[in-house]
Amino acid sequence: MALVSIFETLESEVRSYCRGWPTVFDRAQGSHLHDEAGRTYLDFFSGAGSLNYGHNNPVLKRALLDYIEHDGITHGLDMATTAKRAFLECFQDVVLRPRDLSYKVMFPGPTGTNAVEAALKLARKVKGRESVVSFTNAFHGMSLGSLAVTGNAFKRAGAGIPLVHGTPMPFDNYLDGQVPDFLWFERLLEDQGSGLNRPAAVIVETVQGEGGINVARPEWLRALRDLCDRQDMLLIVDDIQMGCGRTGAFFSFEEAGITPDIVTLSKSISGYGLPMSLCLFRPELDIWEPGEHNGTFRGNSPAFVTATAALNTYWVDSRLMEKQTLARGEQVEQALLSIVKGLGHRGVSYRGRGLVWGMEFDDKTRAGRICARAFELGLLLETSGAQGEVVKLLPPLVIPPDDLQEGLGILDRAVGDT
Ligand code: PLP
Repeated sequence: MALVSIFETLESEVRSYCRGWPTVFDRAQGSHLHDEAGRTYLDFFSGAGSLNYGHNNPVLKRALLDYIEHDGITHGLDMATTAKRAFLECFQDVVLRPRDLSYKVMFPGPTGTNAVEAALKLARKVKGRESVVSFTNAFHGMSLGSLAVTGNAFKRAGAGIPLVHGTPMPFDNYLDGQVPDFLWFERLLEDQGSGLNRPAAVIVETVQGEGGINVARPEWLRALRDLCDRQDMLLIVDDIQMGCGRTGAFFSFEEAGITPDIVTLSKSISGYGLPMSLCLFRPELDIWEPGEHNGTFRGNSPAFVTATAALNTYWVDSRLMEKQTLARGEQVEQALLSIVKGLGHRGVSYRGRGLVWGMEFDDKTRAGRICARAFELGLLLETSGAQGEVVKLLPPLVIPPDDLQEGLGILDRAVGDT
């Protein structure tokens, strides 16, 4: 079906996601979406990781409907509201305290980029230095600051002029068995002396979601934490896509046993696809004066309500969620192994953690063709990586095993057909 309509005549060409899905979607429930023509699709995209608990999760929906029926505050700015208090108390009791984490919570704005901007600004202010170290293939957002630390030349070109204040480093490029030490980087820093050139912080994703599902090994993350300590730089973990359980644990850095100085969360934190982001930082970094970072849509009470319901439903006993996510992840890994075996291990590889997986093809156009074929067969998949060379699998964490298996079967067929 061709999509010649107001989407093509009025909407800017700049939209990027979902372009390979030529239909008009109408409703969604759990791991399924329905278009206006009545076709049903299985969702292995989850709103780019914003719907870990599925579409219209019934518990979160009930909480939201109750709040609206009660005429709860919808636009709160920085007001103290019952919805915000419930969220903060729940976040403290369910997320921070059981993990022995001591962070201040800041609401930097509706989107992930807002959280990254806040993290970068805070790190620069705390250290009084300009630059922030970032990694090849990293993605941190589309505003000027977050793009400056994004390792994607095409996306950076959208800013028109070269972006400054980012110091690029290769992402986990040590050989298996080699101990990551960052000695070469430290020599580089020492050459630069101790002035403004010295980075204020390092920003990292534990698994690069947009950059091709590149998984940092725990020992690399630990070495990075040590590097930051030795060189007086703050460590920012951008957990916007990998947090909220995507890799198994609530925070993706838990497996490595590291504690970042600053953490960003967004996407699945509201649980219902409502805009919300958090910037968490060690209490002693809380040096901003009132008003040094603000914005109109920070106190999104409906998002606080669904976020609180999600934490209370899925994370009070986090072992259950972790176990379930890792089990679903094994199901995906088995299926990918079988697909790759079927291709004789030629021109294809796969990687992932928890319930985020990627299949990379030497033929850089094949991932796009697989996603297009999967759409025809009723499965929503997107590509990842600088050239869209990776098929990205990001099903809802709560997907029933049968639905997961059905989607993996469609993927197998789409690979075979392309
Ligand atoms: N950081 C990471 C790791 C992301 O994956 C994204 C979005 O994909 C962002 C930041 C930007 O978030 P948003 O698109 O909500 O601004």
